[in-house]
Amino acid sequence: MTRGTRDADGLRVDEAFRCGDCENEWYYTRNRCPDCQSATFSTYRLREGELVAYTTVNVTPPDVRSANVLGLAAFGDVRLIAQMSDDDPEVGDSVRFAGQYELREGGEKRARLTGVDGDG
Ligand SMILES: [Zn+2]
Repeated sequence: MTRGTRDADGLRVDEAFRCGDCENEWYYTRNRCPDCQSATFSTYRLREGELVAYTTVNVTPPDVRSANVLGLAAFGDVRLIAQMSDDDPEVGDSVRFAGQYELREGGEKRARLTGVDGDG
């Protein structure tokens, strides 16, 4: 199911970018390094991160789950926001990617995180 881990642009949802010139790292797709504007970069897999913060959204748009638990996770210097598979995460939890989900039926793919310890 390699296709299942890629988003609409063909990128893996667990991939980040590393600048070839200044080694800055980032997650969300950009055509240039946000620090030095270099267009030379490579991708690498994000393995295990730490949950920095989370929130539970109870009022969601049509067809989006409620309650929707969203986590802010740090993978080294790379930070990203993703849906949590755990309903009751804790700040400081180790997290990893748990595949992806469709925000809406037939809609774009988004990353989902889960606790590594498996107690969530
Ligand atoms: Zn750079």
